[in-house]
Amino acid sequence: MNYRVLLYYFYADIENPEQFSKDHLAFCKEIGLKGRILVANEGINGTVSGDFEQTEQYMAAMKVDPLFEGIVFKIDDSDTHVFKKMHVRPRPELVNLGLEEDVNPHELTGRHLSPSDFLEEMKDENTVVLDVRNTYEYDVGHFRGAIRPDVQNFRDTPEWVRENRELFEGKNVLTYCTGGIRCEKFSGWMKREGFGDVGQLHGGVATYGKDDTTKGQLWDGQMYVFDERLTVPINQVEHVIVGVDHFDGTPCERYINCAEPSCNEQILSSEENEHKHIGGCTHACRVSPRNRYVQRNNLSQSDVIDRLAVIGEELDNLIEQ
Ligand SMILES: [Zn+2]
Repeated sequence: MNYRVLLYYFYADIENPEQFSKDHLAFCKEIGLKGRILVANEGINGTVSGDFEQTEQYMAAMKVDPLFEGIVFKIDDSDTHVFKKMHVRPRPELVNLGLEEDVNPHELTGRHLSPSDFLEEMKDENTVVLDVRNTYEYDVGHFRGAIRPDVQNFRDTPEWVRENRELFEGKNVLTYCTGGIRCEKFSGWMKREGFGDVGQLHGGVATYGKDDTTKGQLWDGQMYVFDERLTVPINQVEHVIVGVDHFDGTPCERYINCAEPSCNEQILSSEENEHKHIGGCTHACRVSPRNRYVQRNNLSQSDVIDRLAVIGEELDNLIEQ
């Protein structure tokens, strides 16, 4: 375990995100880091991997920069890099909430709760816990009993909350996300919408899972992460599987990307079902001429027809081709 994965964000005024990104990319490459960093006028959000020396050097440089005074890094041990390349990209905003009027977390945000305070409040009867991530993140792991907004993307969550106000009115609302950055804005937005008592998990689930007092309790499943690991464990006390296989509904925590390149949907699937379904999430994806699974495994057309037969499907556009 000589490598480490850093996860961090910081809301700060960055005057020229384009120039900053170029300089920062050069700096990261010089150190030898790999990962993905977003830079906006409102701050920085990144996840990078490197060996001990590289990650130490990076954190030290960031901490002495007055722009990022007070920055906190979440650190995971790893036995390898978890990214293939190093990217630093300028963006209009750090968190894609698509609000008509933006929220500045320095001016308006929910109460920051430590992991142990979050756990205590979560157990209170008058508390509702709101997951402010994407549904594919929720589906492989979440806090027990947390509300899963029925939306495709995080940016649709505000509208969903407006339509479902009654779930939150008069309640102590707690929000959580992976590292805390989405909650900084989302909890601020909820306060502006008139929900009185809104708390947020400070440092996100990534911090909660490493906390010695909570030991990740009441987290079910794994936590989705945006690197090659895909998921990481959180609950150190018990492991309840909540993910279900896309194909047969059995318990599953293994993510794959659909083999059809333009679909590329992330689905949970056992190895066995991936082979059976030729890596495709739907029939159309399975029979697509661009199916990467077919190419990777050098399947002939008759191989494909045989596999489809096992799951009761046919290659019905055979004549047209
Ligand atoms: Zn697909």
